[in-house]
Amino acid sequence: DDIWQNVPMGAPDAILGIAQAYRQCEDPRKVNVCVGAYRDDAGKSYVLPSVRAAEKMLWESQEPKEYLPIEGDKDFVRCALKFAYGPNMDIDTHVAAVQTLSGTGACAIGGRFLAQFWKNHPIYVPDPTWSNHISIFNQCGLDCRKYRYYNRSTNALDLEGMLKDLNRAKDGSIFLLHACAHNPTGCDPSLEQWKEVIDVVRQKHHVCFFDSAYQGFASGNAEVDAQAFRYAVSQHVPILLAQSFAKNFGLYGERVGTLSVVCGDAEQRDHILSELRLIIRPLYSSPPRHGSSIVKTVLMDPALKEQYYEECAGMALRIQKMRVKLVQALQKAGSQHDWSHITGQIGMFAFTGMNEAMCQQLTDEFSIYLTMNGRISMAGLNQKNLEYVAASIHVVTD
Ligand code: PMP
Repeated sequence: DDIWQNVPMGAPDAILGIAQAYRQCEDPRKVNVCVGAYRDDAGKSYVLPSVRAAEKMLWESQEPKEYLPIEGDKDFVRCALKFAYGPNMDIDTHVAAVQTLSGTGACAIGGRFLAQFWKNHPIYVPDPTWSNHISIFNQCGLDCRKYRYYNRSTNALDLEGMLKDLNRAKDGSIFLLHACAHNPTGCDPSLEQWKEVIDVVRQKHHVCFFDSAYQGFASGNAEVDAQAFRYAVSQHVPILLAQSFAKNFGLYGERVGTLSVVCGDAEQRDHILSELRLIIRPLYSSPPRHGSSIVKTVLMDPALKEQYYEECAGMALRIQKMRVKLVQALQKAGSQHDWSHITGQIGMFAFTGMNEAMCQQLTDEFSIYLTMNGRISMAGLNQKNLEYVAASIHVVTD
């Protein structure tokens, strides 16, 4: 009668498991630099005032609760695509797009689409990458492999290895590329390096799947952060784009994103859109509407939009400042190591170069919670905990 007795205990999620351990920790010194969610300088989670203003407008206009269409809110999708692709893209003709459950949902829908319509082509993800990429693409039935991306001995991009792997992959392979603020390394190619990468992609007839989870949140400028995939579009290579509004709008739990496929003409667009609808309908029918209404309201109101851009840049700037302060604090604590990669990196995370034993010691002896690959969330640092974290890192790395 016990039909579930053979269900084994599944592995805990690496990142969310650490967050759980942090919550249970009773050490008053405890610091959470594990999860990638923005915190203000008081260590508090933060809702953008422009987002609050949009919510007020929605409340006052009696926002309905009706279902959205399968592909989501058309006005939201249009605003989101303009934000991503810029003013020069003919969205109506060349982009098939659907609203998704944030960036994760976009990766999952894109993965299913590729598994169905670009069969028998492997997908290559950077080594290392956001670990969920591998789970998502495996679950879609794709053959997920790795390409060289980061050189741990120099703490820098391994461009040569990356280009070699692009060249070695069979023609028509899919390459997952982080549009900006590479997670976990914080190490992005320069525009010149992107051009080399896209050049090889074009020669090899590869497909680019850009994951854009941090547009505007990385440099503070949404145009700059879009340069990689905008350049790829200009080179006419095939592109899918997974777009998340979790970080740049602070809409994490609202689950707002898009998946788009750049295509040749309006007929192709209609075909692709119809297939994306067929993938979505049996999964969850249609996306949630509150978060996408917020983004639409902000981006369609010129004054709110301008306010939003400033608030987003404010988050990016605070993180950039914390990078400088962390390196200064490490030096002040007496560290002789070269930490310049921390200020060279961009986005939510610093990839410190600490090994697993050092990370474990940070958690065990100092109640500093981080992933064991040496990644720390810069957003978890603030005036109050900075010196403590730096001094502790110095102890475990000295
Ligand atoms: N891609 C990358 C590289 C990420 O870092 C994240 C967030 N951790 C995501 C996608 C997706 O996040 P979400 O589903 O919350 O948009």
